[in-house]
Amino acid sequence: MSKDSKKTCSIVGCDKPSKKSFATVRIAESINKSGLRVKDASTRKAYLCQDHWKIVKKAYKKDTKAERMRWGH
Ligand SMILES: [Zn+2]
Repeated sequence: MSKDSKKTCSIVGCDKPSKKSFATVRIAESINKSGLRVKDASTRKAYLCQDHWKIVKKAYKKDTKAERMRWGH
């Protein structure tokens, strides 16, 4: 289950090695809010390098916080 090691970042214009992977449906909105784009939005998994995760994380944390509030924790 460690096939991720050779993946590169899914953000347009970036070919750094990925640090994290997400289901594209979970992360795509946060990526868009961060002003970034994924190379292929139809893939099931999106990969982020360390630099792009730092940027997307802010939007992602906000989104997941809103989700927690909706579910009452
Ligand atoms: Zn990147």
